[in-house]
Amino acid sequence: MSLVDVAIAAIPHAFAAALVRRDVLVANYHLIAPAAPAHVTGILPHKTPQQFEQDLLFLKNNYNVVSYSDVLAARNGDAALPNRAMMITFDDGFRECFEFVRPLLLKHELPCTFFLITDSIDNRTLAYPNRTALCLDAIQTSDTHSLADIRNALKTTHDIDSGPSRDELFQAVRALTIRDVTVLDTLEAALEIDTAAYLDETAPYLTPDQIQEMIRDGFAFGAHTRTHPQLWLVDDERLESEITESCEAVCAITGETAAPFAFPYRSNGLARERLAAIRDRHAHIGLVFDTHGYVRDASFMVPRLSFDDPAGAGENGSNLAEGLKRGYIAQAIKTLLGRGKMG
Ligand SMILES: [Zn+2]
Repeated sequence: MSLVDVAIAAIPHAFAAALVRRDVLVANYHLIAPAAPAHVTGILPHKTPQQFEQDLLFLKNNYNVVSYSDVLAARNGDAALPNRAMMITFDDGFRECFEFVRPLLLKHELPCTFFLITDSIDNRTLAYPNRTALCLDAIQTSDTHSLADIRNALKTTHDIDSGPSRDELFQAVRALTIRDVTVLDTLEAALEIDTAAYLDETAPYLTPDQIQEMIRDGFAFGAHTRTHPQLWLVDDERLESEITESCEAVCAITGETAAPFAFPYRSNGLARERLAAIRDRHAHIGLVFDTHGYVRDASFMVPRLSFDDPAGAGENGSNLAEGLKRGYIAQAIKTLLGRGKMG
């Protein structure tokens, strides 16, 4: 244990939390499962249900867990949030939200908002990051001979340098973005991946019935684009359609007049004026959630903290006490040093 670790361990959570004052902090998860399915290989860390339950107990004991409508009312000036407000969110709409997340949230009576990749609802299409993950999974297990064929296919068809080793090929594929989405066709053919069969057999995403049951439970739903692209890499037209069409699809499911929207990955510097203009044109876009940590942002934007990584949680523990304290202290130091203008 380093001196910094000792110092952090000695500081009470409430003291560290008081260093960073925000109206609400937002927890962001993707997947809770005993073991990772192939469609998240190499792209997402995850906690087990046991670790997640410990996170929930920690949040219950140290924060006031609030719902999306609580945050919306507060941002509209209609109600105040309690001190130490924390909202819980899940992205991507994996079926494990129904299997593992929902029972634990119900057990502990905690609200939560689930952001859906709307083209993938009911397992209609495998979203592009999950297609990448299936390729990564196959690269890990393919024999050396077929890996050579794959490198050749990538070099000749797409001019991608995928290196001589398995790991270099893995890293090259992992670095692909929505701009390289056609590369996935080549990879899937070379690796003999049948995404339609995978969707049929595995059903990675929530079904409409599961979503309706969760709505009856009182959970909230939001939009997470139609196809999960890096939105900072797409043109204006696609940026607007990914946001508005996914919000429309969620409104059609929930019956609400507006749906909150969560950025896939992060907004990565997308101008807030551009986003504000899109919201002005489309009344059915609610608050917009990002993954910026503790920054201050436009009044319609809500930053989030990623709680996916199980590092340091142990087999049946929570790493939130430690992780949050480190975050608070780092943010307080940043602000003190004057680099915290956004914070
Ligand atoms: Zn996502």
